[in-house]
Amino acid sequence: MNISAQIVSYLLKNPPQIEADILRAKRKFCKTSKIKNVPSNSELLKKYRKQTKKNEPLANLLRKRSVRTMSGIAPIAVLTKPHPCPGSCAYCPKEKNMPTSYLSNEPAVMRAILCEFNPYKQVQMRLRALQNNGHATDKIELIVMGGTWSSLPDNYQLWYVSECFRGTSDFPETKNNKQLTSTIRRSQPKNKNLFKKELIKEQKRNEKAKNRIIGLTLETRPDCISIKELQKMRALGATRIEIGIQHLDNKILKLNKRGHTVQQTIKATGLMRQFGFKITYHIMLNLPGATQAKDFA
Ligand code: SF4
Repeated sequence: MNISAQIVSYLLKNPPQIEADILRAKRKFCKTSKIKNVPSNSELLKKYRKQTKKNEPLANLLRKRSVRTMSGIAPIAVLTKPHPCPGSCAYCPKEKNMPTSYLSNEPAVMRAILCEFNPYKQVQMRLRALQNNGHATDKIELIVMGGTWSSLPDNYQLWYVSECFRGTSDFPETKNNKQLTSTIRRSQPKNKNLFKKELIKEQKRNEKAKNRIIGLTLETRPDCISIKELQKMRALGATRIEIGIQHLDNKILKLNKRGHTVQQTIKATGLMRQFGFKITYHIMLNLPGATQAKDFA
């Protein structure tokens, strides 16, 4: 029996109350066996899964950042390819070859870079990491980041979401490089109807998959919200929209070259509510021109 298996079997007989109890057990076994590399919690989890005897509180303690999926839903953030944004906000970092408003040292961005911004690879990489750390992934909230979604070409949007569904339904199967690009993209890059059909097919397939996307978040700007835009988002399967409203003072918005007004935010919010979307506002504190009183007004 290797060291991880020994520790797990000990912990099953002596259930830990807090994380420190697990650490103590690890130290005790490593010291006795003169092992320098203390096994990680994910290594212990792998051994735990092979055991017939189960102890849910132990699994919870071994799970890395268990708060992440405590609601029963696993959030998965993916990024779209770098693309231009209709806005020209004064504070936007606009790093070269990065999606606008994102920096290359952010964890989700680093993962996207490793996957060359491929949606299929990104969802599978994230699913693998979550499962290795003991998280359930049967219900997923997919969060698509990468700047203003509405400014991406329609066919790219259809392909991107369809590939997220395909990657999620295929998991844990590993596809070869050719299969990583959907047939549709290789054969008919300009036919919108084929992209739409492919999306519907993948959405249907995902309804019965082991890992299901039960929520889809898209991010955009208030001035991009219209009835037509919301109909498109609904067809993609979006359930939540994140909009950057940033502030509720037109002078501050203007000074920061935000390119939209508070009135547009109000109109956009009304429309999104009529469509039944969940709404997340992004706000920014301490912008040039703002004061503490204006930020909390
Ligand atoms: S809307 Fe977002 S991505 Fe576009 S310029 Fe402003 S901060 Fe950058």
